[in-house]
Amino acid sequence: MFVYVSCTLLNYSCGTNFVTSPEHTLVGIHVAFAFGVHRYFGWRGVAIAGLASNIPDWDGLPMIFDMQRYESGHRVWGHNVMSIVLTSLVLGMTQRRFDWIGRVGRRVAARLPEATDGRRETEVTHGNIMMSVCVGISLFAQIIHLPCDMVVSGGKGLSDWAIQPWWPFSNTAAVYPLIPWGDIGPTVILMGGIIAIAKWRSHTSTFASLTLVALVGYLLLRGMTRGVLFV
Ligand SMILES: [Zn+2]
Repeated sequence: MFVYVSCTLLNYSCGTNFVTSPEHTLVGIHVAFAFGVHRYFGWRGVAIAGLASNIPDWDGLPMIFDMQRYESGHRVWGHNVMSIVLTSLVLGMTQRRFDWIGRVGRRVAARLPEATDGRRETEVTHGNIMMSVCVGISLFAQIIHLPCDMVVSGGKGLSDWAIQPWWPFSNTAAVYPLIPWGDIGPTVILMGGIIAIAKWRSHTSTFASLTLVALVGYLLLRGMTRGVLFV
């Protein structure tokens, strides 16, 4: 929720759209579906992937209080390997202790019974296994966040905004702006994939994989047309 608020504010501040929470969430969910996380760990595993995909953007929160801190910290404090490891451990330990994803899910299911079709899936719900699963999925989902941000940058008079993945040990920065901020293509592809999955649930992993392939293809194509990639 904090991240969503943060990203909403980010949009207002720059007058354009970033890779925002919805897109990061959809990437995390598609990757989870493509790897069959829903089959092995149930909906909790997919929910963790969707949520964890947004965690690096916690470093955008300072803009609520101080724009200068935001400009120096965003894409740095939360977008690095050290932060990803620490937040994944915190996520796993709190999930093990409180099963907060399960609590939220049960509340949603109680209010939206029509959204559940009664099918039972294999689920690991608690204990050390759940903690390990949570940490692993979070690590993977957060790491994917970094290249997603790296390939979306600049445009509309805005300068590129690099990621510093090894901060605070190194200030080495990387950005590979295949598409500009505000490009609607990834959103359309990701949402199209979710609609296809909702319609043909027995082919969830296939459609998720196709969606990710289409997304990568689109990024490469746009990179060529933007002159970032050479043919
Ligand atoms: Zn980010």
